[in-house]
Amino acid sequence: MPASDYEVTIGLEVHCQIRTQTKMFCACRAGFGYAPNTNVCPTCLGMPGALSTLNVRAIERTILAGRLLGCSIPPISKWDRKNYFYPDMPKNYQTSQLDLPLCIGGSVPLYEWTFPANTEVPASEDGIVRHVKLDHIHLEEDAAKLTHFAGFSLVDYNRGGTPLMEIVSAPDLHTPDEAYAYLKSLQQIMVYADISNADMEKGEMRCDVNVSLRPRGQKELGEKIEMKNINSMSAARRALIYEIRRQTEELDAGIAQVQSTRRWDDTLGESIIMRTKENAHDYRYHTCPDLIPVRTAPLVERVQECIPEMPDARRQRLIRDYMLPAADATTLVSDASLCSFFERTVQAGAPARKAANWVINTLTAVLTERETSLADCPISPAALADIIGIVEDGTVSTNQAREVLDVIWRTPDKDASSAAAELGYKKADSGALEELVRSVLEENQDMVELVRAGNAKLVNALTGKVMKTANPKPNPKLVTQLILSCIKS
Ligand code: ZN
Ligand code: MN
Repeated sequence: MPASDYEVTIGLEVHCQIRTQTKMFCACRAGFGYAPNTNVCPTCLGMPGALSTLNVRAIERTILAGRLLGCSIPPISKWDRKNYFYPDMPKNYQTSQLDLPLCIGGSVPLYEWTFPANTEVPASEDGIVRHVKLDHIHLEEDAAKLTHFAGFSLVDYNRGGTPLMEIVSAPDLHTPDEAYAYLKSLQQIMVYADISNADMEKGEMRCDVNVSLRPRGQKELGEKIEMKNINSMSAARRALIYEIRRQTEELDAGIAQVQSTRRWDDTLGESIIMRTKENAHDYRYHTCPDLIPVRTAPLVERVQECIPEMPDARRQRLIRDYMLPAADATTLVSDASLCSFFERTVQAGAPARKAANWVINTLTAVLTERETSLADCPISPAALADIIGIVEDGTVSTNQAREVLDVIWRTPDKDASSAAAELGYKKADSGALEELVRSVLEENQDMVELVRAGNAKLVNALTGKVMKTANPKPNPKLVTQLILSCIKS
């Protein structure tokens, strides 16, 4: 059977570390970069008798994610123990949520700009291609970090107990590209709302994918194959492309699929079977006797006040309030920090379209060229507005402004005008410049006649002549304008 005769169903489970000062069930510091096993206490080490407390901020942030994604928030949410034995969880159970999670239902918008580059993006309305249904979002704790070596493993309990949100989609995705876009959208929303850094490289966001195939028209879903802990969006896409092809080939050959977990090896580019069948009852979930359920109403109310703008709303605002072309608005919203850099440049007085152009094209190119991140960029939004300002008032041309930018990059305290003066660019005294233009035209009467006769190209040659004699160097655009007005008058 060709692949097109199978219907592909994909579901994603995304784990996302919530950005909080402390852990989920104790007061230990959360976060990276500390010496191994220094941020630990009897609670997160699972010592007998140690009791848990709740991190309210983590609960709030989870509810905020739910509100942003249109979930309903049940009035009561409770905690359950998910039992398993492994050195990354010294209690031998993970405190999680089974049947009364914090958020139920909802959906994730797939934005046009979240689809993988160089692929055909489906048609969209206001930037939204479609919504992928969510099953629920629950809150739990992260496990410790294991590092495996030949013959032994090391465990770092610093990560153990970090607030971890698990976002579970409905089986509502159909292509590897959609899965990619889903992860990217989710990541953007987490960053926009300051819920998580969601950096997949750092493991702040991790993803389990499951995929099943069924003959088109069949009602029940096919057997589900799961691949756990995929650590990049493109790896998730590659894993799905591989798995869909593998299952198609096997089904065509008459090999029935069995519900199982496979390991995706991104280097080899293939998946390897790990274990078959694993159901919720294997974990012997039961209600946590130590933690009382959460009454969500007061938290929902508190969260209501800090619901941020979603990326699609921000894009529409950029188009409406700044009159930006749709393509520029799309580029800006796809990178939240670039977008706020742009907005701050406009607030510092730069005209919006010019600012967008400088941020998207010039600044991005300079940052790439110098292998610098926007966070480390020595040019502030105010400095960029300053540079754009001296282009606008005719002190320098766009090319000259690039040189000014280089000077400010090296000496960020300098203002644009003095940097320009240092380079020999000064706002021409328009009287003196006009005089110079008139004398050059006088000397080149033959060319002036030809321009009058319709040879527009000669204007550039005349501009060149003026530029050669002028000192300090004026903005060539300004010179051309002067030439044209002198010739006409
Ligand atoms: Zn602790
Ligand atoms: Mn989980």
